[in-house]
Amino acid sequence: MTRDPRHDILFTPLKIGPKTAKNRFYQVPHCNGGGYRDPSAVTEMRRTKAEGGWGVIFTEQTEIHPTSEITPFIEQHLWDDRDLPALARMAEAMKSHGALAGIQLAYSGINGPNLYSREVPLAVTGGPILTFTADPVQARSMDKEDIKNLRRWFRNAFRRSQQAGFDLICLYGAHGFGILQHFLSRATNHRTDEYGGTLTNRSRFVREIIEDARKTTKGELAITLRLSLHEAGPKGFSNTELRDFIAMHADLPDLWDLAHGTWEACSATARFTPEGAQEDLVKGIKDLTPKPIVGVGRFTSPDAMVRQITSGTLDFIGAARPSIADPFLPLKVQEGRYEDIRECIGCNICVSGDMTGAISRCTQNTAFMEEWRKGWHPERAHPKGNSASVLIIGAGPAGLEAAVQAARRGYKVTLAEATTTLGGRVAKERHLPGLSAWGRVADYRTGQLAPLANVEIYRDSRLTPEDILTIPADHVAIATGSTWRRDAVARQHLHPIPTDPAMPVYTPDDLMAGRCPEGSNVMLYDDDHFYMGSVLAELLVQKGNRVHFVTPAAKVAEWTDNTLEQGTIMCRLLKIGTEIHLNKAPEAIGRNETTLACTWTGRQSALPTDAVVLVTSRTPDDTLYHATKAQNWQAAGIKSLKLIGDAAAPGPIAWATYAGRNWAESLDQPDPGDALTFRREIAALDPGHSLLP
Ligand code: ADP
Ligand code: SF4
Repeated sequence: MTRDPRHDILFTPLKIGPKTAKNRFYQVPHCNGGGYRDPSAVTEMRRTKAEGGWGVIFTEQTEIHPTSEITPFIEQHLWDDRDLPALARMAEAMKSHGALAGIQLAYSGINGPNLYSREVPLAVTGGPILTFTADPVQARSMDKEDIKNLRRWFRNAFRRSQQAGFDLICLYGAHGFGILQHFLSRATNHRTDEYGGTLTNRSRFVREIIEDARKTTKGELAITLRLSLHEAGPKGFSNTELRDFIAMHADLPDLWDLAHGTWEACSATARFTPEGAQEDLVKGIKDLTPKPIVGVGRFTSPDAMVRQITSGTLDFIGAARPSIADPFLPLKVQEGRYEDIRECIGCNICVSGDMTGAISRCTQNTAFMEEWRKGWHPERAHPKGNSASVLIIGAGPAGLEAAVQAARRGYKVTLAEATTTLGGRVAKERHLPGLSAWGRVADYRTGQLAPLANVEIYRDSRLTPEDILTIPADHVAIATGSTWRRDAVARQHLHPIPTDPAMPVYTPDDLMAGRCPEGSNVMLYDDDHFYMGSVLAELLVQKGNRVHFVTPAAKVAEWTDNTLEQGTIMCRLLKIGTEIHLNKAPEAIGRNETTLACTWTGRQSALPTDAVVLVTSRTPDDTLYHATKAQNWQAAGIKSLKLIGDAAAPGPIAWATYAGRNWAESLDQPDPGDALTFRREIAALDPGHSLLP
């Protein structure tokens, strides 16, 4: 395998101030749900990026002072010297293969509710804290003394960043989150002193801070500035103002790191936004400055990356999610191993880890954040144990991932799939509106399995318990998936609701199989709250139906707040003419109407209905497992029989790929008994005495 010479440009070194990046692959800061709470897990995650060839690797947002923190989100802290050891260890890991190590320093101002530190939030201009969670807290406007203090806190952070061994400091002023943007934007800066008013005045703090950074680090570190490409709203820091600012301060930072306006826009999902979506906003900015520019765009295609550079749009290819899905993306391009690239599917399950305060996971890279906790590597697997062969039934995300990892470990793998297509649920969901990227889950894994001599795949092979007992295998995994329920049982209704048999009732499985109402008045009931309900609403509208979207929640697709999609989904549903019924659930489905009830008052209303689509919950397809378990499988030489993925407990695709990996990694391992199956860090107890009076 050789690299296409057109991609060589991605491997030309480039200077960033006093430092030189070895190539153009730039891992921009990204959260991971671990942060200060899970320092070793984060360190080992970043180490795999170093090994995978990234030229620049950043930490996530690092909070510099307790007067500004964004609990419940878990980022890094650089509050005093006690935070240094963890960050120093991370910097060392980042630099382990020649990458530059960067730290992103953040002061959140109007975005920091300080729920943990309980300090009064300080903002450029005071007002209610602008968080996702509408915390009932206001920030105080900073006076001159506060600004002086803030500059000192930044200087402390610069000194500590250098002490920890970082090469680059990124000053955060993007996504509406960092105080640098709050100074620049007329939306958040209403000041009448020399820090407010004209763009020159609003830029003052940024100029002062960058000067402070250079002085404190004696010019030895590169200073980068991360700004929003476009802040919407009449007084927002628009793309035009950004261009004016850059033209006025062309030499100010050592690199311009440009990100879309909001985090939702910057990290938009594949369902709504294609690769390279920020191009129009960033084009032409390079002409305004001699300093290099990095931008993002969920880039996974080396051709698209090269185009960004040769067209003079970007100098560095920024990546957060593509680097999570494939920490080895640069090395694979470098070595011309294009077919090994594990492309991000743009699902934002990684983001949901940050949003829920759980450690992040990735649909595509099952090792993400398990590098230290479980010793999983994104590319390699531990050599196999004593047994030789495995049988996996079902080639959905769980079965495919189980097969890839077991094969990597060196087992002889037999994979049997009932249908003629590999991929299970993603083979079907990839054909739904906006979900074509879901197919990458199957494509990557089938591509990895194809050349392997130790893997045999049987399509069109629906196995029975008898088949399982006759196929020689030491370990058997049953990954037979799940089926959407047809009786409205989920969260709101724990038992089926009365339904007239004359009413046509459809499930997502029906619609994916092509059985879809057309030209009807459809009541779509969503008690799943993730993406499926709104995706099917789009499909139903495409088929000429009038859609009534009914949900017991206070907003549509409620859980997609965690994938940053909720607002976009609501907007899409309204635009396509969906009628939305919030806080409602069907009580009974009649011959030609649905009785809806308000989830709070119980007040009933009738909705004329020709067809019903239920997006509620799924039944595990575990019959094969239980039927096999009831037999004397041990006598057939089988050492273990396990149920994995949706067949065990239906969940998002990422849960299924994780289950596949977890099974393959557990083969021939000693039974952990009641011991934990992952490592964790526990806060060191303070030896101090009681301070109580
Ligand atoms: P998961 O998300 O857990 O991987 P999926 O529903 O995506 O689950 O995939 C399950 C796969 O198992 C489907 O492709 C289905 O056709 C296959 N399957 C179900 N029953 C059998 C069986 N008895 N033998 C072989 N394959 C089966
Ligand atoms: Fe991409 Fe989804 Fe993985 Fe995030 S979780 S990196 S969006 S594949």
